[in-house]
Amino acid sequence: MSDLRELYQEVIVDHNRSPRNFHSLADANRQVEGFNPLCGDHLRLFLKVNQDNVIEDISFEGEGCAISVASASLMTEALKHKTTAEAEHIFQQFHQLITTDIELAVDSEALGKLNVLAGVREFPARVKCASLAWHSLHSALTQPETARISTE
Ligand code: ZN
Repeated sequence: MSDLRELYQEVIVDHNRSPRNFHSLADANRQVEGFNPLCGDHLRLFLKVNQDNVIEDISFEGEGCAISVASASLMTEALKHKTTAEAEHIFQQFHQLITTDIELAVDSEALGKLNVLAGVREFPARVKCASLAWHSLHSALTQPETARISTE
């Protein structure tokens, strides 16, 4: 178990140090700014969704703690080329992963690498850090007119 924890830790450190898809997106058609005032995490999420509801491109920029940056980075990696319905499914599963103890209810296959963030459920203050990018995503998918969200 401690080996697994170390591996998880490594993935988070790596994604924090060199976040994937970390840039703005000039041709984004959805854009949401997310704040987590409790920790000071602040990010801007960019999505390019085509007419078949496929996420053609996704990126983010901003600054925050290691958990918030790693979570956003892993999220963009997991959702590129997924449909918006698949993205919503992964959002629901991820939310369950970091907020409940009932692992059986979680579709860990759909989550893939995102499972490394399961450990944050033991640290309630970190849950908002890990979910910031995801709430921004959820808002971009379900209420495209929303420009700004806050976790409070
Ligand atoms: Zn944070």
